[in-house]
Amino acid sequence: MPAYAEPFALIALSAFCAIALSACGSGSSVSSEAEADSDGTVSGEVTATLHNAYQWFGANVTVALDGDTVVIEATGRPDHTSPYWNPNNASGLYVAPDPNVTTVSHMSPGYIEDYNNLFTLRAPASPTRAASSSATSLGPVGIAVSGAPIFNDQEGPNVNLEIGVIQGFDSNGAHTGPQTYHYHLEPKAISNDDEALVGVIADGFFLYGRQCYSTPGTYPTDLDASGGHTSVTQHSQGEAEYHYHIMNEFYLGAYYLLFPEDYQGTPSSISN
Ligand SMILES: [Zn+2]
Ligand SMILES: [Zn+2]
Repeated sequence: MPAYAEPFALIALSAFCAIALSACGSGSSVSSEAEADSDGTVSGEVTATLHNAYQWFGANVTVALDGDTVVIEATGRPDHTSPYWNPNNASGLYVAPDPNVTTVSHMSPGYIEDYNNLFTLRAPASPTRAASSSATSLGPVGIAVSGAPIFNDQEGPNVNLEIGVIQGFDSNGAHTGPQTYHYHLEPKAISNDDEALVGVIADGFFLYGRQCYSTPGTYPTDLDASGGHTSVTQHSQGEAEYHYHIMNEFYLGAYYLLFPEDYQGTPSSISN
């Protein structure tokens, strides 16, 4: 567990206690709008729990429970190195472009520091699959654990990512513009051919790396068109639950798209 997770957990627990004065003795469960009958039984209880996976979001992301909604706020800036940080290196996270990955002449204009965003996603604490899937659109389709947004496979209206743009990406499959640093491809600082948690998609389902905890060391073979399936994860406490994976399929012969397909749940907008 990263060093920042523990303070987060404490802050989150404090928040829970503030929300539900009576719930502090019961772990991270929050009860609200509960009414005790005269015989002491509780009726009309609305219980939401902050999913265990949210503890793995980094310091650039804050997560809070608001009733049965999770409020996720992200700075839009990653907590890892990139050649898209300003080379004066005030961030301490600038690295020179890796010539094996990034073609400097293809890099997008703008440094990560050029953008000041606070992306907010209000997602259901217990997301469910929708009756029908819905298409993603330009702009953020999810928030990564690093604090930067996840984009789909398009670089403009009905303009798919093409090789010239990808050649300007950093080693995390990301670049800047038009309003934020963002990922399109497998972000190797977060997940590199493994089962790591990558982020949360706008419908509230989590996105994991190409491998699955339920089938250690291998790639899931039962994914739907969105890269989703239902199984246990390292964060689901033994319960099978729906989640997405980065699909283990090459795009343009060499790349792994993060989340190119439809939402299987009901997406909320990610505002900034
Ligand atoms: Zn882009
Ligand atoms: Zn899985």
